[in-house]
Amino acid sequence: MASVRQKDTGPEMAVRRMLHRMGYRYSLHRRNLPGRPDLVFKPRRKVVFVHGCFLHGHDCRKGRLPTSRVAYWSEKVSKNKARDARNVRDLADRDWKVCIVWECETADLDSVRQRLVRFLEGGAS
Ligand SMILES: [Zn+2]
Repeated sequence: MASVRQKDTGPEMAVRRMLHRMGYRYSLHRRNLPGRPDLVFKPRRKVVFVHGCFLHGHDCRKGRLPTSRVAYWSEKVSKNKARDARNVRDLADRDWKVCIVWECETADLDSVRQRLVRFLEGGAS
């Protein structure tokens, strides 16, 4: 489980730096919330996860399973996906809004920025 917790990875840092530059303030990896979200916007009751495509099983090129140890990796990734889904449900149950940014999306930080601003500034949708 510790290996899933890739703290301070490139994509996550890129998103954090971008939002911080824009004046957003947040806390990190709060242990008291399901899944320890990467960024927590407490007054807005919103959280952001920055997920690595491979370990979290994104449906993209980076999320493809390797050709060796297929059983091992597919089990690991499906467990991660199940846990991610459970965390999102638990957060929603506690009235938190969740936005997931995928590693591959951070190649285009501009569109990530637009999506996050919509998410953070949006009302109770
Ligand atoms: Zn991806």
